[in-house]
Amino acid sequence: MKVDLVLKNARIVDHAGEFYGGIAIAQGRIVAIGNDSILPPATRTIDLAGKVLMPGLIDPHCHLGVNYDFDDDMRTETAAAASGGVTTILLYIRNMEGSYIPFYGDRRKRGEENAVVDFGFHFGIQREEHVAEIAEIARTTGVQSFKCHMGYEPGNSIGIISSTDAWVYGAMREAAKLPHGVVSVHCENTELVQLLKGEMMATGRQDLAAYTESRPVFVEEEAIARMIGLAELTGCPLYIVHTTAAKGPLMAAAARARGVDVTIETCPHYLTRTAYDPDLDSRAKISPPLRDTEQLEGLWRGVMNGTVGTIGTDHVPFKKNGGDLWKEKPGVVTFPWELALMLHFGVHQRGMSLSRLVELNSYNAARQFGLYPRKGAIAVGSDADFVVVDLDEERVVTHEGKGTCLYEGWNLRGWPVMTISRGRIVYEEGGVVEKETGHGLCVTVPAHELLGR
Ligand SMILES: [Zn+2]
Repeated sequence: MKVDLVLKNARIVDHAGEFYGGIAIAQGRIVAIGNDSILPPATRTIDLAGKVLMPGLIDPHCHLGVNYDFDDDMRTETAAAASGGVTTILLYIRNMEGSYIPFYGDRRKRGEENAVVDFGFHFGIQREEHVAEIAEIARTTGVQSFKCHMGYEPGNSIGIISSTDAWVYGAMREAAKLPHGVVSVHCENTELVQLLKGEMMATGRQDLAAYTESRPVFVEEEAIARMIGLAELTGCPLYIVHTTAAKGPLMAAAARARGVDVTIETCPHYLTRTAYDPDLDSRAKISPPLRDTEQLEGLWRGVMNGTVGTIGTDHVPFKKNGGDLWKEKPGVVTFPWELALMLHFGVHQRGMSLSRLVELNSYNAARQFGLYPRKGAIAVGSDADFVVVDLDEERVVTHEGKGTCLYEGWNLRGWPVMTISRGRIVYEEGGVVEKETGHGLCVTVPAHELLGR
């Protein structure tokens, strides 16, 4: 019997190590792994000529359908993700109107009609009723991950409602009861941000660093400490999104040492950009803000020593106004360059092992959000989600899609050259992304649905 696809002559890397050989794929899953000589005959065989083959990236953090139409974002941005070696994206998504149950049905359907790669949801707590609904959401939709926002004052440019400590505590108490329950928190002390922003606005400054200095790193550190305290009280796993504070990974490590389940995520831009870079202006506004070299280097220490758990892009396509700093929408796009940035600055420049990169980019997120070992693993039975990497290819970043790119013109070494989603090639270098619109499946589904897959 022939399998669908064999990838051979590859340097196969996962979180635990690496070997040379190949992988056989049938019906979207891995059916054999080993020396090329023992792999079954296949309808199609691809010789990877010794290139690196890793689990496809799981980007645990993005926002689609915020500024542009949801369906349109699910097409264009998942294609961008495929071009960056990303095979699963998890959306932090908010429903301002009411219950998440009908909302899930609608967004899942539209996602599955449009997405090129797999996707799932974390739901934002935007009203007290959402906290009360957590058990029912988990049961009927399979979503077990909830986000509490902070640092957004009333009337903010993107309409986010910041959580009170009571919402966070309530959400943690509910999520702690779920098998894969987790609460993500955007850590910035909302009240301090409001005070300091008012003071900074009064100075009339419009440079990017004014935004950064209006929400200094201590507002984030204070919130991280408070959230760790609540996680310890409730026993709920805590996932700290888009960490900019160098102290964040240290605080999390200290908490883990006493048994608190807390994970730090940071983003490529906090590892590669500062608010003082002379080429950046208000369009590089991100929430939380870009910081300085000291924080950047501290985050790299966490990335290298394992106290940073995951890399998320916080990818969000916005039409920027390019004018008033305080009215500018915060956020940038990163899917296509996330892996290249980590290869260039992590693997090549800082000597990061490829297994550590897999841990940061796939394995830890899969485990955190209940997707392992279906995702994030190279194992028989796992989804055949891969990225093939040419470690030595140099390419200059160009951006033509939606949103703001912070890396235009950068020459990076190490790029994804092929992306495979459940056995289908969704991106191949040199060509445009194959039109695989609608190939993507929702990964946050009720348990009974998974049995049928
Ligand atoms: Zn975000």
